Amino acid sequence: MRIGIPKEIKTLENRVAMTPGGVDSLVRRGNEVLVERGAGLGSGLTDEEYQAAGARLVSAEDAWSCQMVIKVKEPLTEEFRFLRPELILFTYLHLAADEALTKAMLTSGTTGIAYETVQLPGGALPLLTPMSEVAGRMATQEGAKYLEKPQGGRGILLGGVPGVMPGHVVVLGGGIVGTNAAKMAMGLGARVTVLDVSHGRLQYLDDVFGGRIMTMTSTEPNVREIVKTADLVIGAVLIPGAKAPRLVTRNMLSTMREGSVIVDVAVDQGGCVETIKPTTHADPTYMVDGVLHYGVANMPGAVPRTSTFALANQTLPYALKLAAKGIDALRADKSLALGLNTYQKQLTCPGVGEAFGMAS
Ligand code: NAD
Repeated sequence: MRIGIPKEIKTLENRVAMTPGGVDSLVRRGNEVLVERGAGLGSGLTDEEYQAAGARLVSAEDAWSCQMVIKVKEPLTEEFRFLRPELILFTYLHLAADEALTKAMLTSGTTGIAYETVQLPGGALPLLTPMSEVAGRMATQEGAKYLEKPQGGRGILLGGVPGVMPGHVVVLGGGIVGTNAAKMAMGLGARVTVLDVSHGRLQYLDDVFGGRIMTMTSTEPNVREIVKTADLVIGAVLIPGAKAPRLVTRNMLSTMREGSVIVDVAVDQGGCVETIKPTTHADPTYMVDGVLHYGVANMPGAVPRTSTFALANQTLPYALKLAAKGIDALRADKSLALGLNTYQKQLTCPGVGEAFGMAS
């Protein structure tokens, strides 16, 4: 199959859909891979590396002319002209949030396979997981940075030093983001408390961290008490398909320590802190009632090289299947089949249909 890897054109998007290693795997299996010139530069991957892996360097038009296009972000308006019935587009689509794109996918008849709805039998979302892992680990790193005095924080070193108590990191939600945030915080030597509504999740965390972190059931009184003692609060809750529950209220801020930091990773679902609002990497923080807030909605964008490899590691096995069998690959792989969002001008994902009152 001919496979195109265009350069991402969304502002500040530096990831690329395939690494040279991924290109090599596709080419070895008899596929032809057309990579747009400069597509990998934002992730530190040169045209020469792609060429050495067997890719052909082309223009955006040529990359988009392939039978399958693998991308990172959804097509932007400027890219709608490339959509057509013979195209298989494998990328993050997030159609429920974008009516214009949904219409463009449907009217063009493009086959859209969305990373975010590929789902394993246990319910896990394997192509969202790598970005949650990146964001979770980054949350602690960013929090540690903003606790420094010159950044506006309380002037706390999370790990402490011999003779001085370490900082206290409170993680709200012990899923993928929360577990990765906790792991980093523990690695730095901080005291860590994870709260979750799922007892099974807390049992799991207690087991894997061997009692080196504290766990607590997420109830309103527990949250109210624990945030008073936090230096860093990390918001990592998710109720699939719904807005994040508001766990930290404005009233609670006045009980928190002056200069403490909140990193609300769940900001992309509205946030679990009443006072959080989306911010950007260019201007990531703001202060409310003496508490520093960090609300960047695309945290992995700051570490594109790591994010590119993390994403491509997970998408490659599915890309190989699609390259080998085309759309028939979905018959053999139920997880991948759940990724199908649009096919032959029909919506094939119930969540998207519900969002726009369309049949699916
Ligand atoms: P996940 O499903 O793995 O984990 C969510 C956890 O929240 C679950 O363990 C669940 O039991 C728990 N939870 C639900 N309600 C709760 C409550 N009231 N109190 C405490 N815990 C509760 O999800 P995830 O992959 O860890 O993602 C978490 C959030 O991070 C999502 O909103 C996701 O979209 C977001 N995210 C943001 C970025 C970013 O750049 N800002 C990047 C990746 C993910």
